[in-house]
Amino acid sequence: MQDNYKLYDEKNPSGPVVVNGLKIWVDRDLCIGAATCVAVAPKTFVLDSEAKAVILETVTEEDRETIIESAKACPVAAIIIEDEKGNRIFPK
Ligand code: SF4
Repeated sequence: MQDNYKLYDEKNPSGPVVVNGLKIWVDRDLCIGAATCVAVAPKTFVLDSEAKAVILETVTEEDRETIIESAKACPVAAIIIEDEKGNRIFPK
């Protein structure tokens, strides 16, 4: 676990954030800290001190497909993604 990371939004560590035409957030009640998302999208996610996924400032450097793949890889579907119009991309 990293300690000195920069969040994209200090007020909403787990989102929602809107970047790259995607609205992304983590359901902290669902997240079990499996860190699969960190492995798939290391510029987007890190685990905080409660072992919940939070969204990094560098999310802007991650490509859309990688972010969507990370949501699909989450074993408990805790990462929710919508497009800019509010249409659900994942989970369906
Ligand atoms: S993969 Fe899912 S459960 Fe694991 S840390 Fe990421 S959001 Fe949480």
